[in-house]
Amino acid sequence: MTYDDSNVFARILRKEVPARILHEDHLCLAFADITPQAPTHFLVIPKRPIARLADAGAEDKAVLGHLLWAAADIAARLGVAHDGFRVVINNGARAGQSVFHLHVHVLAGRDMAWPPG
Ligand code: 5GP
Repeated sequence: MTYDDSNVFARILRKEVPARILHEDHLCLAFADITPQAPTHFLVIPKRPIARLADAGAEDKAVLGHLLWAAADIAARLGVAHDGFRVVINNGARAGQSVFHLHVHVLAGRDMAWPPG
């Protein structure tokens, strides 16, 4: 799908909208979710304008790997990696995606059910 840079994560990247930032580097930004679904809930987003996982191309492979590395590294720094954490990417409206800038959810601090809803 076409990337629309008026979405809220693009605005957070441009620092037009405040967020509780946990990590930033040349490829990604991580910040606390505004409506946490677990005691720890943060999002890792690429700086590149990718609307959905399905829109990532071969040129994005390194960025996609970096997002997962950052997710685990931040979870470790927050002290939640040992007990377990869940990583979720909602791709498309039917899967629950509501912000169309690719983001990795990281949830921790409570028991998780499976299958997810
Ligand atoms: P999705 O439903 O697209 O997978 O996830 C979007 C997530 O972004 C939701 O968990 C929602 O709480 C979070 N979110 C939406 N708007 C904002 C915002 O302005 N700031 C932050 N920090 N999180 C947001």
